Amino acid sequence: MNILGIDLGGSRVKLAAIEAQAKGMAGIAECQGVGFAYPGLVDMENQRVLCINDKYADAAETDFSRWARERFGLKLLLINDAAAALCGEMTYGAGRGADSGALLMVGTGIGTAAWARGRLLTGKHGAIGILGGHIAIAHEQPRKCTCGNVGCLEAYAGTWALPGLSREHPGFAQSVLRSAETIDYRALAAGLEAGDTVCRDVFDGVCRALCTGAANLVHAYDPEVLVLSGGASRIEGLRTAIQAHLDQYCWSSWGHVRAAAAENPEASVALGLSSLFEQK
Ligand SMILES: [Zn+2]
Repeated sequence: MNILGIDLGGSRVKLAAIEAQAKGMAGIAECQGVGFAYPGLVDMENQRVLCINDKYADAAETDFSRWARERFGLKLLLINDAAAALCGEMTYGAGRGADSGALLMVGTGIGTAAWARGRLLTGKHGAIGILGGHIAIAHEQPRKCTCGNVGCLEAYAGTWALPGLSREHPGFAQSVLRSAETIDYRALAAGLEAGDTVCRDVFDGVCRALCTGAANLVHAYDPEVLVLSGGASRIEGLRTAIQAHLDQYCWSSWGHVRAAAAENPEASVALGLSSLFEQK
């Protein structure tokens, strides 16, 4: 089934720009629906954005269904981006064949989602599973998060937190990160490869935070597989560190939880949107 899949991600985009780009795409005439992955809380029943975090201040007032109908003559499916990615991974990717799963997506922020008995968990406000990046992992001198809470996983491992974490390191002035155009996971991975000790320390801290966050997800959602996605998921050593942490610290009576890297992190949101349309 052909759909127009839109993944908003962490940067701000105008609907008019999306429309212009989509209408110029080959194959748009064959599309049977518009799938819209949004980085925030989504009321899936009413197809509205419920709540935003800084970006997209006008999203809660926007009628996306009407936009899709009027501009493309198509039905809309609006869903949280991490939830869409998990649907893609459970249907076609790293979670294929498993009955339950959870997703830890390290992007600008940290997106999470949960899946049980063959379907995505949602709940009254569409929030089940998706706020794992805002479960606090620290309470002593906790870092401030963009959500208003303190000590959130995202404040220790989201890409937006990397510049602050790096600049606080006493060795920052001697680090390759000092001359990096942007301090993100790509810069961190390059520094790790070059043997930069600041990058090593920052990555070790991020890794500990993600291990704690992963164990929290396992204890909350009892998944068979924990899928790692987003920019950080391909950094060497992260998946194995999380697997070792889960093996050592999670309740062993539940059995072994498999930590798996997303098979195709760039496509999992699009595949998830497609799978949801096919289920309809
Ligand atoms: Zn937060």
